[in-house]
Amino acid sequence: MSRSVKDYVRSIHDFPHEGIIFRDVTTLFADARGFRMAVDQILHAYAGTRIDKVVGLEARGFILGGAVAHQLSTGFVPIRKKGKLPGTVISEAYQLEYGEAIMEIHDDALRAGEKVLIVDDLLATGGTAAAAITLCRRLGAEVIGCAFVIDLPELGGRRVLEGLDMPVHALCEFE
Ligand code: 5GP
Repeated sequence: MSRSVKDYVRSIHDFPHEGIIFRDVTTLFADARGFRMAVDQILHAYAGTRIDKVVGLEARGFILGGAVAHQLSTGFVPIRKKGKLPGTVISEAYQLEYGEAIMEIHDDALRAGEKVLIVDDLLATGGTAAAAITLCRRLGAEVIGCAFVIDLPELGGRRVLEGLDMPVHALCEFE
């Protein structure tokens, strides 16, 4: 039987903390067939939808989002953790399990009315993607969807994003 995207994801126990199973997409990206399959499935999900820019979330969203943008012949815009982008930024804080994190985007990276697809490797609680949606919307862009390789449904991220009126597309799920 042929392998699915999920089959290329490696599960690493007790990373980054004891009791956590980390879903490692480096094995997916390292495989030519797996990487192509993931990119093609995202493209297929948005076929016929106007997308002006792809926004990728640090760090693995850069790899996937860059490939998707290249295939769509759109520009690519990074959303990064605080302090990494060199130009003038706008920032958005969000809650982590312990404490908070801040994501940033260059304030001139998107124009009002541009249609944006947000791409990341994995959806867990939805905090990271929700902050990214807010950043894009603050610049006046219209986020048409969020695409992930993996959804962890038990963590409720899809509900959080749908509460922001954001359609979610994930290529596979892990319990
Ligand atoms: P959330 O904000 O939805 O709780 O977490 C999603 C973010 O954490 C994503 O940017 C994702 O890269 C990262 N993340 C959390 N857990 C995992 C995991 O098990 N595997 C991978 N590849 N990324 C994870």
